Amino acid sequence: ELAGRMAERAVDVVKFFMKQGQILKPGDVIDADTAELVASEFGHTVKRVAESDIEEGLFNIADKPENQSQRPPVVTIMGHVDHGKTSLLDAIRETSVVSGEAGGITQHIGAYQVEKNGQKITFIDTPGHAAFTAMRARGAQATDIAVLVVAADDSVMPQTIESISHAKAAGVPIIVAINKIDKPDADPQKVRTQLLQHEVFVETMGGEVLDVEVSATKKINLDKLLEAILLQAELLDLRADPERTSEGVVIEAKLDKGRGPVATVLVQTGMLLPGDIIVAGDQWGRVRALINDRGEQIKDAGPSTPVEVLGLQGTPKAGDRFATVENEARAREITEYRQRLARDKAVAKHAGQRGSLEQMMSQLQTSGLKEFPLVIKGDVQGSIEAISVALDKLGTDEVRARIVHAGAGGITEGDVSLAETSSAAIIGFNVRANKQALLAAEKAGVEIRYYNIIYNLVDDVKQAMSGLLSPER
Ligand code: GDP
Repeated sequence: ELAGRMAERAVDVVKFFMKQGQILKPGDVIDADTAELVASEFGHTVKRVAESDIEEGLFNIADKPENQSQRPPVVTIMGHVDHGKTSLLDAIRETSVVSGEAGGITQHIGAYQVEKNGQKITFIDTPGHAAFTAMRARGAQATDIAVLVVAADDSVMPQTIESISHAKAAGVPIIVAINKIDKPDADPQKVRTQLLQHEVFVETMGGEVLDVEVSATKKINLDKLLEAILLQAELLDLRADPERTSEGVVIEAKLDKGRGPVATVLVQTGMLLPGDIIVAGDQWGRVRALINDRGEQIKDAGPSTPVEVLGLQGTPKAGDRFATVENEARAREITEYRQRLARDKAVAKHAGQRGSLEQMMSQLQTSGLKEFPLVIKGDVQGSIEAISVALDKLGTDEVRARIVHAGAGGITEGDVSLAETSSAAIIGFNVRANKQALLAAEKAGVEIRYYNIIYNLVDDVKQAMSGLLSPER
């Protein structure tokens, strides 16, 4: 490999080692110092790069502000099971899919686009916060707006509350869709009042959260919901640069018998074109074709467009980021590095736990992140507030505690999944985790710490924040 990189013949490199009295066999590894020595002996200039440099410049290349233009909002539908998420997605799709010339046979590719008043809206086709969470766990945020579906003949339920926390943790604004208003026992006002208790203040109750009464099955007020989404999008002033190389996120991927690996990606900025070389997770490929949600081949895919990509060498994972790179060599370098990293991680998996305070701190230090995420559960609201205030005071210019979620009650599975996606540790104050939560935490490697004295809690967090936390007490 060294010979290859120097553009020398391997046999010459092996000969050089022989002269030094070292016989190399295939598979032998030489260290960086030796490699550097050899390279300079061959008259090459050596530039040492850290492994992490390999990915440098891959993501988050800044858009040129002057090239930015408005992009459609990307919407995820969340809410409790049976409240009508799937029905709503289907109803919106049926009534408003962007009219295609070819008669428009809709394809389920994981996301679709509709048009309302000449403006586009992209919906992620997998309802529920599981998909949302899985993406966030991989560091991708695909959603701009969360539509929270609550059935008017039911009430705010556990997954409704979880969805609210997930949207809030991600900083994504919520629009409430009060569904099933066609039902005789529908009581939308009850839903609004219940939402107040979870700090979702809808407009009609004097708040800022848009709410729309709908019926998915009777197709009532669907256009009002779309209008609310467009209004919210306008407030968010969503922009991207369609002139640059593309970047985005994988929505889903599969191995298709006829077409090979097929990934549905959401372009977040830039323009994805056939012929582009892209890296997605630890896979890469040259884009052979782009196919939209109506099964039509398209010439380009701009910001907020969901599109099927053909031509990848393998299947990436949902939530993987993708980006266009300059050439095949770069694509190979990045994916080989990532595959190696994944292998190393698998090996080291049992060595350490993610989400432990110490580990988190060392991560924060290396990555230069300045926030210390925590999920806090306590017995009563009063103690939670006292803890929040005390933790807030610990903040310095360099590091501060970020409370992802705080609430009264025992630690649940939902808390664990929230902690996992936010790389947070969980703190239980006078409360314990239930059995499912413990199992989930163990599986996800999320640390749970229990306290019954606020001082001890604050002191531990303080020490963790200064990287001085003593071993488990
Ligand atoms: P999900 O689990 O949130 O995706 O909910 P579904 O979309 O599967 O809906 C659950 C049930 O509620 C189904 O039997 C739907 O037909 C019914 N449903 C959904 N929306 C409405 C509605 O607006 N009105 C009525 N009456 N039923 C609805």
